[in-house]
Amino acid sequence: MPTFTAHGLENLAHLIATRMGSEDVEAKEVADHLVRANLAGHDSHGVGMLPTYVRLLGDGLLVPNQVSDTVLDSGALLVIDAKRGYGQRAAGDAVRRAIAKAKELGACVLALRNASHIGRIGTYAELAIAHGCAFTSFVNVADHRDAQATWGAAEARLGTNPFTTGVPGPNGLPVVLDMATTTIAAGKARVAYNKGIAVADDCLIDADGNPTNDPTGFMRDKTGALRSFGTHKGGGLAIMCEIMAMAVAGGQGTVEHRNGGTLNSMLATIIDLTLLGGADHVAARAEATRAHIKSARPAPGFTEVLTPGEPERRYATKRLVAGIEVDPQSWADILEAATTLGIAAAEIERAVGSNAA
Ligand code: NAD
Repeated sequence: MPTFTAHGLENLAHLIATRMGSEDVEAKEVADHLVRANLAGHDSHGVGMLPTYVRLLGDGLLVPNQVSDTVLDSGALLVIDAKRGYGQRAAGDAVRRAIAKAKELGACVLALRNASHIGRIGTYAELAIAHGCAFTSFVNVADHRDAQATWGAAEARLGTNPFTTGVPGPNGLPVVLDMATTTIAAGKARVAYNKGIAVADDCLIDADGNPTNDPTGFMRDKTGALRSFGTHKGGGLAIMCEIMAMAVAGGQGTVEHRNGGTLNSMLATIIDLTLLGGADHVAARAEATRAHIKSARPAPGFTEVLTPGEPERRYATKRLVAGIEVDPQSWADILEAATTLGIAAAEIERAVGSNAA
């Protein structure tokens, strides 16, 4: 399996984003975001997304260096329309502005509309947490074929609509729950398909609505659907993510016409913990809760009880040393996408070569 250092993959992602037309600051933010997702173990939202971004660019559905519109900046409300701009930059800029407002006013409600794919939402939670804030967001996915069958449905009607929330933990480590409302994120079906492996039980249904572990129908034939997690409750949360991001934040919804892009909209609240809770107090209480949860006896079949954020931290510790594996199909797709941008093999080697783990 091709394996690279984080630095090497970041160089490569920066090279590709630059050739897609992004100015340096944008290419850096995209590259940093994607590789952080790989480090956290979310290959679904890492450098494997680059071929999709190249396709979106070619189809005119992703706009590098886009300048977002500020639709409203009033009191604690900030409304931003990203107009298909690169999601990682549009969302990063919007969250940074929202943090500044929260620091001034105590809290900010951010409505971000119509950004191209904004990637791993936990990154924005971590950004707010690093500034002593609590973060909660509802995100929807539009402009794309439906991917999620909610409880009781035999076909898809929604995107994978992630829900994310987090607070500062002890020693500066964030406590973040960051999840698709489907049992697995769509990118994880892509990674399983690329690796030629089955997905776990309860993740997918086939074209007839029956459970399946084979991602081929969903990925290759565009049939079947990802299932909501947790029966009617996960499906209900997915529906509320759709309504919050589409109706309240004002972004595009899945009821609208699709062009085959990926548009994320987000309704986020950012609370400055200086006035409410106190960052150190929240961190101490979060740690007490974590320790209490982890003191439970593991259930049969489990060796320990984990809490949100622990798997990501373990991945990062391991991958920073051992490198990041990119499955052969994803790697071939990245190389093919780079070729369409006129990037020579030698340039790719220079970007990652000396950094291959
Ligand atoms: P996941 O199922 O791997 O993890 C979800 C959450 O559960 C995480 O907070 C994790 O820390 C926690 N967790 C994982 N295993 C655990 C365990 N054994 N015990 C306790 N907690 C555990 O993640 P996912 O749902 O596949 O989502 C992956 C990523 O996809 C997320 O970063 C999400 O933001 C992103 N996403 C983005 C979009 C988009 O359109 N931009 C859409 C969907 C998902």
